[in-house]
This record gives sequence, structure tokens and C-alpha cells, in this order.
Amino acid sequence: SSSTFRRRTLLKVIVLGDSGVGKTSLMNQYVYNRFTQQYKATIGADFVTRELQIDDKLVTLQIWDTAGQERFQSLGAAFYRGADCCVMVYDVNVSKSFESLNNWHAEFLKQADPADSDTFPFILLGNKVDVDGGHSRVVSEKRAREWCASKRNLPYFETSAKENINVEEAFLCVAQIALSSD
Ligand code: GDP
Ligand code: MG
Repeated sequence: SSSTFRRRTLLKVIVLGDSGVGKTSLMNQYVYNRFTQQYKATIGADFVTRELQIDDKLVTLQIWDTAGQERFQSLGAAFYRGADCCVMVYDVNVSKSFESLNNWHAEFLKQADPADSDTFPFILLGNKVDVDGGHSRVVSEKRAREWCASKRNLPYFETSAKENINVEEAFLCVAQIALSSD
């Protein structure tokens, strides 16, 4: 019942990163516990939701996906409006996807224009750590953590949407940092 929880909070989470890094797969793993190898553009809903409980708070994460528009960096104002947290994703096996992070970070701040850009909660996910047993990896964890340190120590997780590694942990952190800034 509604009296069970002291607060109910809706948090808008947006997921950014180059096309193909696994944004949709991470969300599907987190929300529906499923993974597919098939590569298909996201069609339909703009967002998916999952509820979780943090202390006495019932939190609804409203996680916004792109429908492939990230290729053109034309996500539109509605996508960014009112965001409570920005999840940036790169593929540890693709250098370019890591090098794009500065652009995604700047693009978010420009479009979302948060009240305090210095303290806005970002998080970075290095995805596809399962690929080739880690042998095709080109971005080291150290390099990723250095980048996070340069961006006011934003939290970092190494994930696999395929093997369900750190997905739950990463989105729990998303909820926590989004809540603490709200
Ligand atoms: P998006 O464009 O960022 O939304 O990327 P998708 O979620 O569509 O994933 C692109 C491709 O990478 C798909 O073929 C997925 O099956 C695959 N993929 C996504 N995450 C992983 C992962 O963690 N490991 C592996 N091996 N493949 C992944
Ligand atoms: Mg996608």
C-alpha cells in the first residue's frame, strides 16, 4: 500500500554512448533479465521502468533508450529534459567508443543543462567485458578509471549485458547517486 513507503520517487535516467556499445542490452538485462545477440534498432517505447527499494524509499527508475538516433547525435530536448542521472556506456573492445565519452558528456551538459553541472550524477559503464575472454579488450580498466577521476570521480563499473555481470550493481548505484542529488 502507499503507506508502506515514506517516499515514492520517480527518477529519470538517460543512457548515452556510441551505437552498438550495448545500451539497449544493458537495459533489457536489468529490466527483463534477457539478452539477445540480434542487433536491431530499438522500436517502440522511449523508456522502460523498474522499481527498487532503497532503505524506506520505493524508487522507480525510468530508463530512457535511444532508437538509434545516437548515430546522428540528434536525441532531442524531450530525451534530456528533467534527467536525474546520466549513464554513459562504452565498449571496452572499441577504442572509438571510449574516445567519444568526452563528446557525450559535453553533449549531455549542453542539452540537459542541469541546475548544477558540477555535481550532476554521471556514471560510466565499460561494457562487453566477456568478449573473447577479455583478449580483444583495448581500453584498460586503469585508463577508464583515470577518465572517471578527471570527471570529478564519477562511479565506474565493468559490465557484461550478455553474462549479466555487474548490471544489477551498476543500476543500484545509478539509483543511489540520483537519489542523493535529488
Ligand atoms: P546499443 O546500440 O548501444 O543499444 O547496443 P545493443 O544493445 O543493440 O548491442 C549491440 C550488439 O552488441 C548486439 O548484437 C548485442 O547482442 C551485443 N552486446 C551487447 N552487450 C553485450 C555484452 O555485454 N557482451 C557481448 N558479447 N555482446 C553484447
Ligand atoms: Mg540501442
